[in-house]
Amino acid sequence: MNAGIFRGRPGGEVAVIGLGKSGRSVAELLARDGHRVYASDAGTGDAARAAAEALRALGVDAEAGAHDLARIAKAALVVASPGVPPDAPPLAAARGANVAVVGEIEVALHYLPDLRYVAVTGTNGKTTTTALVGHLLRALGLDAVDAGNIGTPLAELALRERPPAWAALELSSFQLHDTPSVAPTVGVVTNLSPDHLDRYPTLEAYYSDKARLFANAGGGSRWVLNADDPEVLALHERIGLERVAGERIGFTTVNGDRAPFGFDRQSNALVFRGDPFLGREELPLLGDHNVANALAASAAVWAAVGRTAADPAGFWRTVAEALRGFHALKHRMEPVGTYGGVAWINDSKATNVSSTLVAVKGMTRPYVLLLGGRHKGEAYTALAEPFRAHGKVVLAYGEAAPIVEQDLGGLVRVERVDGDFAAVMARARALTGPGDAVLLSPACSSFDMFRNYEERGAEFRRLAADSTPQQHPQETP
Ligand code: ADP
Repeated sequence: MNAGIFRGRPGGEVAVIGLGKSGRSVAELLARDGHRVYASDAGTGDAARAAAEALRALGVDAEAGAHDLARIAKAALVVASPGVPPDAPPLAAARGANVAVVGEIEVALHYLPDLRYVAVTGTNGKTTTTALVGHLLRALGLDAVDAGNIGTPLAELALRERPPAWAALELSSFQLHDTPSVAPTVGVVTNLSPDHLDRYPTLEAYYSDKARLFANAGGGSRWVLNADDPEVLALHERIGLERVAGERIGFTTVNGDRAPFGFDRQSNALVFRGDPFLGREELPLLGDHNVANALAASAAVWAAVGRTAADPAGFWRTVAEALRGFHALKHRMEPVGTYGGVAWINDSKATNVSSTLVAVKGMTRPYVLLLGGRHKGEAYTALAEPFRAHGKVVLAYGEAAPIVEQDLGGLVRVERVDGDFAAVMARARALTGPGDAVLLSPACSSFDMFRNYEERGAEFRRLAADSTPQQHPQETP
């Protein structure tokens, strides 16, 4: 394994920046292994203080409320939590003093030499695909845990007396940047769009982070790649993807000739090498983007274990059954109930235009779209054309309302609601009837009205149910 992570300044201490879940676990892991650890968090809240106290009890020199920058600059290694921006003072201090900076996952992998893992990265669909992969691996009888951004920090798995054999690991591009030893059994790229350019100085820097997924490729590596995505295809030219060791397995929702895993619109089924393994209607997830996620996850488990399965028919039966039983994650095209014949769909996680675009494209019945919140700078005009397919009215609300109105007003029917979120919901109810849907896919952040997108989604769910107290929830189609 990568014994070199502590190279550089032998004998020095390890500085852990950030005392969130992953920072706490990694500090404990390092201390337990005999390293001297200094862990700090700029936060002064109860959570940071409690974390520091708990770590002190384990022999870690932990502090909440400040970072000792001089001490960090003298560390042998800095371990950064994923939430800490690269230009934050402790990381700037480390870089300024040439101290190596890695992420929690890098350290955890070092302590999990036998772990097999499916690493999922990309711009959109990481969490859903990771959850699907974990769900499928478990259905196939493997001892697998969902880890990384999605749930349990990898370092926490390393602390277990008996770590799992497998992990479905969600990796953001920032985490990839700080995980030089990444070497997944199967690596998945859901899709790529050149976003986050605010955090990358150049497109080349962005691409070179993506390429890190392949940094330790070997003959046994398997890569599951989106065959429809121009940015993924561009990796061939940009980073010489065809020269990366291992096998590439594509998935497509557009043209079955492109890749072994596909969506056949004629038979309305998910197929492998032309053979259907699941009817589209059997997958309880809305939208073609989720067909892509299900195909990516199926390809990943096929590459991991299915290709060598003693009973291939049994493998596909298990995969199909598990996909039938997989329900939407919260706030991602999540049906929260059908009331009075109207289906209410919570896509509060869609905080940018591209996410709302896939939601709108996934709608198949007439609907009212709740669009608004805190504006993030992108134009909404791209939504007009796909909205016309089934959309009835756009309700523009929150701080972004005038901009939504301005962008879409001449193109589709837009109504502005100036009141609070309850007023928006009441208006949506008034505009819909049996057979319709209400879709919250706001393309904006929630901070003008809510603490976060989770709170916005919870309020949507509550008001949807509250709005018709005389009726009982029915099964959502
Ligand atoms: P991530 O973890 O990458 O943010 P999620 O699975 O949490 O992705 O999905 C977040 C949002 O991204 C969804 O609500 C949906 O709007 C959009 N999305 C999900 N999967 C895809 C996909 N395969 N392609 C494009 N957009 C997607």
